[in-house]
Amino acid sequence: MFTRSNPSSCDVRRVPETVPPVSKKKRKIRAQFRKKHETRKRRRDLTRQYASEEGEQSDQLERSERVSGKGSLTRKRTVVGSETAPDDGGLSVDLDVDPDVCRRGRVLSVHGPSNIVRAGDGTIYRCATRGLLKSLSTDQRNVVAVGDLVWFRPSNEMAERKEGLIERVEPRRGVLSRTSRGRRHVIVTNVDQLLIISSAAEPMLKPHLIDRMLVTAEKAGIGPIICINKVDLVDPVDLQPLIGVYGQMGYQVLLVSATTGFGVDRLRRVLRDKESVLSGQSGVGKSSLLNAIDPQLRLPVRTVSTESQKGRHTTSIAQLIPLEYGGYVVDTPGIRQFQLWDVVPAEVAGFFRDLRPYESHCRFPDCTHIHEEGCAVKDATADGKIDVRRYESYCHMAQGD
Ligand code: GDP
Ligand code: ZN
Repeated sequence: MFTRSNPSSCDVRRVPETVPPVSKKKRKIRAQFRKKHETRKRRRDLTRQYASEEGEQSDQLERSERVSGKGSLTRKRTVVGSETAPDDGGLSVDLDVDPDVCRRGRVLSVHGPSNIVRAGDGTIYRCATRGLLKSLSTDQRNVVAVGDLVWFRPSNEMAERKEGLIERVEPRRGVLSRTSRGRRHVIVTNVDQLLIISSAAEPMLKPHLIDRMLVTAEKAGIGPIICINKVDLVDPVDLQPLIGVYGQMGYQVLLVSATTGFGVDRLRRVLRDKESVLSGQSGVGKSSLLNAIDPQLRLPVRTVSTESQKGRHTTSIAQLIPLEYGGYVVDTPGIRQFQLWDVVPAEVAGFFRDLRPYESHCRFPDCTHIHEEGCAVKDATADGKIDVRRYESYCHMAQGD
């Protein structure tokens, strides 16, 4: 009997492909399937609308179009696998695959029905998704998402353009998603860390943006790292107070310059063998930094002329970029703009590491920490225990600014 390694620590590079994807509690399961008449319908005019949304699509409309006949029975089929907790937007049933035939890989990008999968040895496969996977009841439209670790069956190993069929998606962790119209959209899965990129100047440093992205990371349970680029343009001493505030909260702060190469080695070590999402407003130097750490990438860097071109087409589909020395980065304009995925005002204080210890000491249990009397958070700010700028950042976010 095979035992599976802990999926949460799996990585294409570290886990040999021979690790059999057999679940511990292998047994037959009665899985819920879509009813036969509930074919996936999508109106053509909506296709275009949703296609523009970071490559993800909502099944909200499909659902409302389905017929839910009175007393209709859900078809069931027996499949071999194990049940998993589908709190990650993934499948509720984990299918077993034949490890002698199937290969393990990571999904670099998703283009409609076809997925670009990178096997452990770097070979790229264009894979469709097995029908059985698609028909298993799931809360999410896209069974396969960017970042997923999958097992696929190669279909034409001899051909130049390799193809395959995805048979299994491993349980996810570190999922970045957003909610739109009450439905969750997975953007990227298996994220190890969120790199919050900002610039010391041009554009000027915006600490409140860093705070927003920190909240996003805290909410998603993904470790954030603050990276301040363009330090060649300022006196690093001026950045010390800010570094001090974040450092005290336990956040790692990196000072870098893509232009001079300062701190680039350290950044390379931070990214190695990890799946990192780069987030930060445009112009802070994300592409320049990636080119500095891996010159083979040759990502286009914005020049003064491209900056002035309004509405230029930028891809909004999330994709993983493999790094030469190991690891993946995700850089998508869509992700850059998402700052507060489904964070509701009442939750914000809980995601501010420096406010959290005081929250429970307020006079009113539902204190918003903005206008109430007897607020421990406001007192701590007045006493200098909480940075005033951080408190102001909190107020903006809690008020939905
Ligand atoms: P992105 O939009 O975040 O990907 O930013 P880019 O990488 O396209 O860079 C925007 C501009 O900042 C370009 O003109 C770069 O040459 C410039 N830039 C990037 N990194 C640095 C740096 O460390 N120092 C300076 N002085 N300029 C930089
Ligand atoms: Zn309070």
